[in-house]
Amino acid sequence: MAAAMENENIIRLSVFLGLLILFSALEFVIPRRTMPGSKPKRVLANLSLVVMSSIAVKVLLFTTTGLFAIWVAENDLALLGFQTPFLLAIVLLDLIIYWQHRIFHVVPMFWRLHKVHHSDNAIDASTALRFHPVEIVLSILVKFAAIIVFGIPVLAIVVFEILLNATALFNHSNIKVPFDSILRLFIVTPDMHRVHHSVIPTETNSNYGFNVPWWDRIFGSYVAQPERGHQDMKIGLSQYEGGETSLLKLLLMPFKRSP
Ligand SMILES: [Zn+2]
Repeated sequence: MAAAMENENIIRLSVFLGLLILFSALEFVIPRRTMPGSKPKRVLANLSLVVMSSIAVKVLLFTTTGLFAIWVAENDLALLGFQTPFLLAIVLLDLIIYWQHRIFHVVPMFWRLHKVHHSDNAIDASTALRFHPVEIVLSILVKFAAIIVFGIPVLAIVVFEILLNATALFNHSNIKVPFDSILRLFIVTPDMHRVHHSVIPTETNSNYGFNVPWWDRIFGSYVAQPERGHQDMKIGLSQYEGGETSLLKLLLMPFKRSP
């Protein structure tokens, strides 16, 4: 099993890097908006955060969600008493992540962490990497809880993690997607998720979904388009207008008073 998990890591990393390169290239070919500020500085800061976050996950947790799912399954520990079927498990994980994201916007302690992601004053594929390491650790703990309560099968957790990486890279990317209005009936598109990165609070607190767009529609958090249009809308948080690109400042941001 350990060898299989090694492969999982290699597959995840390849899919992730491949898509990051693909969407970054597409951002050159079919850009949606002209971007403000210094792209190299932003991308470097966002990349450093993903490296830090990965190290935090490996060092602090010693294990991955996949290994945990195997352990729960082998020892029959699921509180539900049985394993949730594969497809249902994927949908359930997506619903849990939706609510986790919503709660991270509302509870001040969690918002301190999540605002690091929102303090980027532009949005492209690299923004999908910009999460505070502590937020990444908390997300993993939420998945651990889901695994032990619902008996999420290992394949579902692995597929879900890959899907989540892929859709996050896609829906943060600055690309013009054809047939957006049809596509967003099935998947969160860049135009849909960009609304969530608007400085206008009613827009920041909308469109929380990462994979399927249905939760926002069901739970009343769906906003179709940014009030000021995709080109003119301001991205980020008003208190970090210049965008924050220093790695140290990003890491310390949750522990400092808001400017
Ligand atoms: Zn958010």
